[in-house]
Amino acid sequence: MPKNASNDRKLVVLEAAQFQALLRALQDGGYSTVAPTLKEGAIVYDEVATVDELPVGKTDEHAGGSYRLKTRKDKAVFGYVVGPHSWKKFLHPPTLRLWQVRRNGNGLEFVHTQEQPPKYAFIGVRPCELSAMQIQDKVFMAGEFADPIYQGRRENAFIVAVNCSQAGGTCFCVSMKTGPKAQSGFDLCLTEVVEKKSHFFVVEIGSDRGAALLQDVPHSEATPEHLQKASAAVEQAASQMGKTLDVSDVKDLLYRNAESPHWEDVARRCLGCANCTMVCPTCFCTTVEEVTDLTGGNAERWRKWDSCFTSDFSYVHGGSIRTSSSARYRHWLTHKLAAWDDQFGSSGCVGCGRCITWCPVGIDITAEVQTIRSSETSKPK
Ligand code: SF4
Ligand code: SF4
Repeated sequence: MPKNASNDRKLVVLEAAQFQALLRALQDGGYSTVAPTLKEGAIVYDEVATVDELPVGKTDEHAGGSYRLKTRKDKAVFGYVVGPHSWKKFLHPPTLRLWQVRRNGNGLEFVHTQEQPPKYAFIGVRPCELSAMQIQDKVFMAGEFADPIYQGRRENAFIVAVNCSQAGGTCFCVSMKTGPKAQSGFDLCLTEVVEKKSHFFVVEIGSDRGAALLQDVPHSEATPEHLQKASAAVEQAASQMGKTLDVSDVKDLLYRNAESPHWEDVARRCLGCANCTMVCPTCFCTTVEEVTDLTGGNAERWRKWDSCFTSDFSYVHGGSIRTSSSARYRHWLTHKLAAWDDQFGSSGCVGCGRCITWCPVGIDITAEVQTIRSSETSKPK
């Protein structure tokens, strides 16, 4: 886990030409370097060896139900926002074998899954995604029982965050106070500045581990001019938010509107595909399945990501609790923006916009809340 220094963090400059040296230093330190990369027409997170595997010179356009990659006019390394993946796929794997039982003569041999946690260096973690990790930390590690798989991977992870210098069409981190500048939870945080004749990163050192790593990476002191350019880049992102969400009183607003007719309106559009929960960096629900082989010699229990958008998810002894699409959408949205606060002391939404971009019919959490809010003010007194 990154150990952040005081607010008085040191800032240095890394020339873009030295970015590979940062990757190499992490790899030499035993980390698998995971970063944005291009696959199947989207920017996803995967293991990379060199900077050439990042989406250099690419950008993305987001709208409700729409995602398009474009080529930039410059060679920005991080000139896009977030794609369909989030870092939870590495910390909270989509499928995981929990245990296995094998026939052994006349007895059974029980094998519990215990892993040597991988050492990941996450490169390009956006401020909203750092907030999402901090939310999942509460879910998986803060209670009486910690998830050992998540905890091992999280404690090993080296975090290279990237402040946003542009916002996507579905981003609303400013409303959720999670971006576009990272405040804590990183080892190093980069702000990229791309100009005609220069291309550099201002690097904020967030932990002793980050400072130690930089000793192996050529860098220089940041000047006031470097810092001013980095601040201007982040301010530009803040001024470009694609969406806003009015969160004032949102918990009570949603609790007051549990019977709003608007939930039926959403249900008429919702396909129940569960995309919104799969792409969300804070959603954490799982199911378990048991499987056997055909000989009966081996049985396994697997944990898999699940979604509150399926009727099976709320099946309890004889029936589902949430039998309609309206009940399922109401549950999801009310959990994210209201009940999450009761459970974990914060919102369950970080404003990344993925659930809007990747909803095939463009259902928009910000617009649905606004419609409910407006319905109260338009009610006859
Ligand atoms: S609810 Fe939507 S906008 Fe909020 S964190 Fe999840 S995917 Fe991102
Ligand atoms: S809100 Fe959109 S993404 Fe979520 S289940 Fe419904 S159709 Fe799918």
